[in-house]
Amino acid sequence: MAGIFDNKPIAASARRGEADAPVAADAATCADCLAELFDPRDRRHRYPFLNCTNCGPRFTIVTGVPYDRPWTTMAAFGMCPACVAEFEDPGDRRFHAQPNACPVCGPQARLIDAGGRELAPPQPAGSAAAPADPLAAGARLLADGAIVAIKGLGGYHLAVRADDEEAVAELRSRKHREERPFALMVADLEAASRLLNAGERERDLLRSPGAPIVLAERRPDARVARALAPGAPELGVMLAYTPLHHLLMSDAALLGVEALVMTSGNLTDEPIAFGDADALKRLATVADAFLVHDRPIHMRTDDSIVRVVDAAGGHRTQMVRRSRGYVPDSMRLSPAPERALLACGAQLKSTFCLARGSRAWVGPHIGDLGSWETLRSFREGIAHFEELFAVSPELVVHDLHPDYLSTAYAQGRDGVELVGVQHHHAHLAAVLAEHGETGPAVGAIYDGTGYGLDGTIWGGELLVGGLRGFRRAGHLRPVRMPGGERAVTEPWRMACAWLAESAGGAVPELPAALAGAVEEHRWAAVGRLASDAALAPVTTSMGRLCDAVAALSGVRGEVSYEGQAAIELEAAADRTERGGYEILWEDGVLDPRPAIGALCADVAAGLSTGVISARFHRGLAAATVRACAELAAEEGTGQVVLAGGVFQNRILLESVSNGLLEAGLSVLVPERLPPNDGAISFGQAAVAAALSPGASSGTAARGRRQRSWPARRR
Ligand code: ZN
Ligand code: ZN
Ligand code: FE
Repeated sequence: MAGIFDNKPIAASARRGEADAPVAADAATCADCLAELFDPRDRRHRYPFLNCTNCGPRFTIVTGVPYDRPWTTMAAFGMCPACVAEFEDPGDRRFHAQPNACPVCGPQARLIDAGGRELAPPQPAGSAAAPADPLAAGARLLADGAIVAIKGLGGYHLAVRADDEEAVAELRSRKHREERPFALMVADLEAASRLLNAGERERDLLRSPGAPIVLAERRPDARVARALAPGAPELGVMLAYTPLHHLLMSDAALLGVEALVMTSGNLTDEPIAFGDADALKRLATVADAFLVHDRPIHMRTDDSIVRVVDAAGGHRTQMVRRSRGYVPDSMRLSPAPERALLACGAQLKSTFCLARGSRAWVGPHIGDLGSWETLRSFREGIAHFEELFAVSPELVVHDLHPDYLSTAYAQGRDGVELVGVQHHHAHLAAVLAEHGETGPAVGAIYDGTGYGLDGTIWGGELLVGGLRGFRRAGHLRPVRMPGGERAVTEPWRMACAWLAESAGGAVPELPAALAGAVEEHRWAAVGRLASDAALAPVTTSMGRLCDAVAALSGVRGEVSYEGQAAIELEAAADRTERGGYEILWEDGVLDPRPAIGALCADVAAGLSTGVISARFHRGLAAATVRACAELAAEEGTGQVVLAGGVFQNRILLESVSNGLLEAGLSVLVPERLPPNDGAISFGQAAVAAALSPGASSGTAARGRRQRSWPARRR
């Protein structure tokens, strides 16, 4: 394709020259562009790829540095004279807008089937018929209940009309029995307000340039299919964020469709598809049609997910998943690392982090590193960031888990120094560092799984420390995890383990609440495992305790994704209940056995799940507050950090936070990064930076320190 870059190369494009030139995050279509999009007199009327210096694709299309058109996936499109004039006019809104394009010279949309055949063929020149519009045709298919794969900014979505029970159920079954809630897309704030009880802060997030999925309380009268988010009290909604989405939503609205399901274009547990050939192949069995275009996506990014929580004395943004619209914005690291570093993160909800000087760049959410595809995204993502931000890591930081693929990757890097950071220390450090703090602080770090210093599975941890070190000041009472990882998808196993623990090791009776869910003989076998030290690993996981309680309350015995039982238990909680089960805090151990006993008695007495759930949450919050307050006093610190995936539980987060504030303590919660393992890489970076010899140390924590980083020089 001929274009201005054939005869007018951009002088600044010395490839390594301006590595600090910021590559911005992708930004939702701005108001000016939106006005042009729907203005019949504008030359970009209904053009699905219009953008300007204030909006449009950025990070997802950048292939190299500096940020100039030749190093974007727009390189193949030469600008027409009208676009060049805008591009070169300092007074124009499109002055140096690298992805600048118009219907004459830019990318085009097509509606095709899985075999690549046009479903809305362009009319031959001179034809009397109106030109077929792929967007109008796609909207028509959606209105009729079809499933359409749509190429977006950072990957493919699968879309279906949200109010069509049958269509949504069909999408769910074609995606393979997954029960995770589907996200929704609507055109504007007014439409979002008909689905969500959204407060001011949530509305601000919805219309922010990052255009994330906002999780908020669903309105009882929201017109969406039941199959969309079974058991979930919240809905995830985002506004249209590209011109293509705006056109599609506006065409669909004409056909009576106000909301579309917009879920990641993948099958269960696979990463989102973003390459065109790959998407056609992988989604062929799911999508009836494909709405595509010819601007390649270079970096896969999923939709970011946020919610608003009432914690640490105000409304806070909780980032549940950080990717499109936020990556690659940098974070500050203080103290700064002496040498450039790479932190490899955890295994599930994987991210990586590169740091140089006081700046750290956390990569997009990658997901579970367990598949070949995600591992490739991880490796390629790291290489891409190293080039974009001119970071040549000399220090590589990893989790202590020997089986994490991120650990293996770190160990495979040549010529670097390796630093291991304990998982829950990284959770603590991530929150301290994002707030510019160094500790000492008390950290209640509650999650599903993390490799402990003693080789057991930690996850209900009370740490005291700062960036440079920590001690494990307390933890949940250890319990056997019968069947290891199988206990994650079969919470009834943890119920059995906790009952066995409460009964002093005897094989417990199968409780009535689980009678329909588990066969007697499986229960008995697991009961024997639970009391056999040789056969089941030990864990202090708080996530697994929540699972056990959910199973014992009759919420569910098996799940299709981690945390599902606990999420449904939280959703059931009766907010008016004032009771709480007793969880002991003695000698550094949180002991929930009295709570388990009381809970079983309440279940047997026929109390509602709502009351039981509330009593558990309130009891756990009270014990956590007591433990943190005591440790804070002991340590002489006023600061408490709440982190780990379990703190995505709103009731727990808000009640622990309120309790700590009432006790006169200050509370830090994760805001720019997730409470879950998506923050581990940044936490690892913060620890390694603070430990690097030249780092001006913050206030090092006092007390018995355990160094958790067996540094090895290679
Ligand atoms: Zn714009
Ligand atoms: Zn043009
Ligand atoms: Fe974790």
